[in-house]
Amino acid sequence: MKVPAQEISQDRKRIEKDRAKKVFALLKKNYPEAKIALDFNTPFELLVATILSAQCTDARVNIVTPDLFRKYPTLKSFAEADRRELEKDIKSTGFFRQKAKAVMNCSRAIVEKFGGEVPRTMEELLTLDGVGRKTANVLLGNAFGVPGIAVDTHVRRLAQRLGFSKTDDPTKIEFDLMGLFPKNNWTTLNHLLMSHGRKICIARAPKCEECILNELCPSAFSFSSGKSRNPVEKKKGKKSEN
Ligand code: SF4
Repeated sequence: MKVPAQEISQDRKRIEKDRAKKVFALLKKNYPEAKIALDFNTPFELLVATILSAQCTDARVNIVTPDLFRKYPTLKSFAEADRRELEKDIKSTGFFRQKAKAVMNCSRAIVEKFGGEVPRTMEELLTLDGVGRKTANVLLGNAFGVPGIAVDTHVRRLAQRLGFSKTDDPTKIEFDLMGLFPKNNWTTLNHLLMSHGRKICIARAPKCEECILNELCPSAFSFSSGKSRNPVEKKKGKKSEN
């Protein structure tokens, strides 16, 4: 008797969800303290730190932000900052002109359109200059407790290597992961994948021998001389990261 295609695909989904559950449990056991690496005290500080973290390490951002938030303690002070001076203040995070512009535009928009409070919905956050789904999900998950998956370079790489997503499009990866993991785990999953990506599943030379996921990972031991046999990575070529 022929099994209907719909049933086969539901079975596959169940198997993948089961594998996802095991991956989550192992990561959680291994990184019980995993949390966001950016330092912040308020939603607005997190927004600024996240904008500054584009193409920059979180460690570098954490060096810059204490003085920055002392100098510009409110949204209004960022909105009214001298652009050139702000550029100098954040220069070491790279792309400082675009970032200064985004921070100032965001601050003005929040003051003018949202009564000085960082908005709490994806839809509203996406109206802010320099805020895409990744930044919005960082804000929602870490400042407001709204589950979200921010697809950065580590999350993208891990999702692909673990076979949870076959695309290179961050939004599709986000939705692929959302379909496999329960909503209440999304923000934690984010931190876990980032921790594992920084420590073990490194872009150029993943440490598969040491990896707690190697029995569940379809890409395990498929890397040699910095070359990946993972089809998504092969297609786009190797990329460096922070
Ligand atoms: S087994 Fe290797 S490729 Fe798979 S998650 Fe671990 S380090 Fe990454």
